[in-house]
Amino acid sequence: MNQNEILRVKNLVRNIPDFPVPGIQFKDLTTAFKNPTALRVLTDALVELYKDRGVTKVVGIESRGFIGGSMLAVSLGAGFVPIRKPGKLPAETLSRSYDKEYGTDTIEIHSDAIEPGDVVVLHDDLLATGGTMRAAYELVKSMGPQKIYINFLCELDALNGRQLLPNDVEVTSLFSF
Ligand code: AMP
Repeated sequence: MNQNEILRVKNLVRNIPDFPVPGIQFKDLTTAFKNPTALRVLTDALVELYKDRGVTKVVGIESRGFIGGSMLAVSLGAGFVPIRKPGKLPAETLSRSYDKEYGTDTIEIHSDAIEPGDVVVLHDDLLATGGTMRAAYELVKSMGPQKIYINFLCELDALNGRQLLPNDVEVTSLFSF
């Protein structure tokens, strides 16, 4: 991973104070995603992390996790599985509720989306408190895949979200704030 390139991507991320509620410093990655070079740098860095791991499925968390998750899945030759907000997935689902930095939420996954032989990368754009990824991990873990990795494009160090994630799972991110 070229740290100078990653730093340039990080510097493209826009900070929006008090969004969506007062006190939150919202990291808006759309200002990085709209830049073709940044999009390529992010994709290449993700692929470098997971290219030799036998990944069969990338699970992306709605909605910003769909962007990096799709890019990674295509590049690895893996499938893509969405984790969505309640009521969006049309077939039978499994669900989990959790607390997040602002409010409570529930996420769902199709109950036939993961098979026992799968090697899964769970992906989201950003790690804040860790509640979302913790719930996603528990959902996918309950489906019995062979292996789970966890990845974010970036993390907010001050919130220490990693403490909510399991110790025995490799967690990566490309940059932090
Ligand atoms: P958490 O469950 O607290 O780790 O929150 C992670 C999820 O909420 C991710 O899907 C992020 O996209 C979103 N999120 C939470 N806090 C922020 C923030 N400060 N800036 C941007 N996105 C955030």
